[in-house]
Amino acid sequence: MQDLAALIRAVPDFPRPGVMFRDVAPLLADAGSFARCIDALAEPWQSSAVQAVCGIEARGFIFGAALAQKLHAGFVPLRKPGKLPPPVATVDYQLEYGSDQLQVQHDAFRPGERVLLADDVLATGGTLAAAAALVGGLGAELLGASVVIELPALQGRGRWPVGKALHSLLRY
Ligand code: 5GP
Repeated sequence: MQDLAALIRAVPDFPRPGVMFRDVAPLLADAGSFARCIDALAEPWQSSAVQAVCGIEARGFIFGAALAQKLHAGFVPLRKPGKLPPPVATVDYQLEYGSDQLQVQHDAFRPGERVLLADDVLATGGTLAAAAALVGGLGAELLGASVVIELPALQGRGRWPVGKALHSLLRY
């Protein structure tokens, strides 16, 4: 994992003063590291019969789509409001300042479909918890989530549904 960690760029004061942004672009740009990252994300789920991977806009699309291919699963995008044609299901969630929404097409899942969430970073956990609520609300079976980076100081795990698996590759 150390080779992957070396390819995460720390950008101080982005997108706001006081925030240390973890930039995954150098990892994505390196073919071997990107492939190893997807292998590591997939590893805990190889025997879980995942049927769909949901990626969260926007960087979750990159990791989620590659992970879906690796797990021989379909891919479902969870999008920011106004991007998907109706009908859609919507969940509201709180950000540090203000609120936001995630949407998914209302017929994205079959009843009981086995779904895995994917994103690049778990920070305060609001985004991933909202995604979990959205997927569960549509009658899919949420298996858990995988993220590349977890920022434990922000206690995002505390917002994640109890009893669901949550895997992260790197922690800062
Ligand atoms: P949360 O809702 O957990 O506070 O924030 C997670 C979401 O914000 C993820 O979708 C992620 O893409 C984005 N995010 C928050 N902090 C960072 C960061 O330091 N680096 C990157 N790449 N994304 C971040």
